Amino acid sequence: MDWSDTADQAAFRAEVRAFIEARLPDRYTHDPFDSGEHFVQWVFDRHAEEPELREAAREWARALADRGWVAPAWPAEYGGAGLTSIEQFVFGEEMARAHAPPVGGNGVVMLGPTLIVHGSEQQRREVLPRMLGGDYVYAQGYSEPGAGSDLASLATRAERDGDEYVINGQKIWTSGAHYADALFMLVRTDPAAPKHRGITFLLVPGMDTPGLEVRPLLDMTYGHYFNEVFFENVRVPVAQRVGEENRGWYVGMTLLDFERSGVAGAVAHEQNVAQLAAFLASPEGAAYRRTGGW
Ligand SMILES: Cc1cc2nc3c(=O)[nH]c(=O)nc-3n(C[C@H](O)[C@H](O)[C@H](O)COP(=O)(O)OP(=O)(O)OC[C@H]3O[C@@H](n4cnc5c(N)ncnc54)[C@H](O)[C@@H]3O)c2cc1C
Repeated sequence: MDWSDTADQAAFRAEVRAFIEARLPDRYTHDPFDSGEHFVQWVFDRHAEEPELREAAREWARALADRGWVAPAWPAEYGGAGLTSIEQFVFGEEMARAHAPPVGGNGVVMLGPTLIVHGSEQQRREVLPRMLGGDYVYAQGYSEPGAGSDLASLATRAERDGDEYVINGQKIWTSGAHYADALFMLVRTDPAAPKHRGITFLLVPGMDTPGLEVRPLLDMTYGHYFNEVFFENVRVPVAQRVGEENRGWYVGMTLLDFERSGVAGAVAHEQNVAQLAAFLASPEGAAYRRTGGW
């Protein structure tokens, strides 16, 4: 099969490349060998202490929003770019080539498309534009200390109290929760039902909701990317439920399909491998290999 660009794809690639060259803030034009973090850099920069980093994040979000490219995969009727799969691939390749960070985080990649499938009209109207403006970044509250690969054993409990759910329990490995504005999560609403059928999908509209506490979970390099999130009588309006009560497993799995199919992520990793290979073949890389890297 011939994977080279067609004339249309080559024209689109040139358009994306020219846009990135014109609009990508200097902050993101990294040393070509320093590629590891670029994929999440925008999310971190939004809340950086340095005002120039926050401004770079805002400037890049504005540039992509002006061009309608914050959400390449979303349909145009919801404010997305409505790109075809091949165009998304080309777009992702050019973004990765330039170390240009995607804007919008988990919300654009996972939650937005899930709301388009399962959300209420009100949820789509309220939540999708916030993601497209770069104003709202979501964390993913799925895993728990006793629920990883077997996610359906999750035990964080949500009980109905009038028009609200009251949440108690704990999530773990919550990437970037300390930079997030809001959270989407799976909760147990019917402990008596077979485990996949007692789960509900909720949006928690603010990380500052009373009773919600984010605690850092440092990795073995003392890096802070993961967190634990604790819930003590956290109240969330029933209107924040996505889909039906006790049918959240299906909503949650739709979201994982979007997470797994993240084309942009795959091409960014391909780019990292290509850069690592180029580095190892360079004189600096040869020296690095001779000394074992230390
Ligand atoms: C980079 C990264 C980011 C993450 N971000 C998030 C996030 O933002 N939000 C979130 O909710 N979660 C997040 N996670 C958590 C992730 O989804 C879980 O790590 C994953 O579901 C696995 O669960 P666990 O770590 O508890 O491992 P476990 O389920 O305890 O598995 C440990 C090992 O046991 C094996 N194993 C498990 N069950 C069986 C079995 N029945 N038979 C044989 N072998 C088995 C597994 O293959 C694995 O090798 C993240 C994880 C990573 C690595």
